[in-house]
Amino acid sequence: MHGNEEMKPEARTQKPEARSQKREWRCARLALLIAMCGLPAVCADFSGARALEWTRKAVALGQRPAGSPAIAKLQETIRAELKARGWQVAEDVWTAQTPAGQKPMRNIIATLKGQSGKMVVFSGHYDTKAIPGVNFVGANDGGASTGWLLEAARALAAVPRKDDVCLVFFDGEEAWGDWSDTNGVYGSRHLAQKWRADGTLTRIKAMFNVDMIGDKDLRVIEESGSSAPLRRLIRTVATETGYGKYFPPLQQAIEDDHMPFVRMGVPAVDLIDFDYGPGHVWWHTAQDTMDKLSANSLQVVGDVLMEVFRRLQQY
Ligand SMILES: [Zn+2]
Repeated sequence: MHGNEEMKPEARTQKPEARSQKREWRCARLALLIAMCGLPAVCADFSGARALEWTRKAVALGQRPAGSPAIAKLQETIRAELKARGWQVAEDVWTAQTPAGQKPMRNIIATLKGQSGKMVVFSGHYDTKAIPGVNFVGANDGGASTGWLLEAARALAAVPRKDDVCLVFFDGEEAWGDWSDTNGVYGSRHLAQKWRADGTLTRIKAMFNVDMIGDKDLRVIEESGSSAPLRRLIRTVATETGYGKYFPPLQQAIEDDHMPFVRMGVPAVDLIDFDYGPGHVWWHTAQDTMDKLSANSLQVVGDVLMEVFRRLQQY
């Protein structure tokens, strides 16, 4: 619906040297800011290239719907990486009733402890949609969020924090057949209810859900159901870090994994580029493949969210 480009992707590509200089400058400025706050100066240094490699590994497993052998292999990879990076890993396991019958589901939840009692959550889905007769490998839709979160596991561990930081890999975001209130976002609906029951929801300071953020032509919209203060914070940071052009002021309502939490009063925001390919033609098709993605897009979302996280640790 807004597939006509006002700017070609090539025009947005910076030379790698220019980008790394810019990032070094940003790290230096950040280190100064952190030093002034009396905290250890560490730059998170999120790597879009690493996030893209993780995405490639997930996509190489093929179709990864909930309950499939391929998603079981991906779960092993996710678990192993999180543990290797020092995260405490928990799993939310249940069986969901879907239009395609009963499906085993598994959210993977990783935590690094802080001292404040509050928690900042980064989430995304790691399943892909089961589409009969189509080899849908979900490079952008399911793969990019997985790759981004796995790199975030490395980067976030180096950022000074006072809050708990939590990574959630949601299962069952995708519907079987047509989407409805009861067919889709199985994982986030399940975890929101569980966390409401055990009181965890009240500890969430902010929740950032990422989805389809690997598109070479990155335009993260302002998802209109998301928390307004968090949308403003993201816009401010994106502008100040020179990434404003990737976050145009386009408002659109998207049902995604943040919404079960928003509806329960959690400050949650969805970072999504829902316009995928000319006229959105690659979405949920066999064309959602690695050649449509770029490390730079994952880098942009990584840099912005790492800086947002740092700012949230200052109050
Ligand atoms: Zn999808």
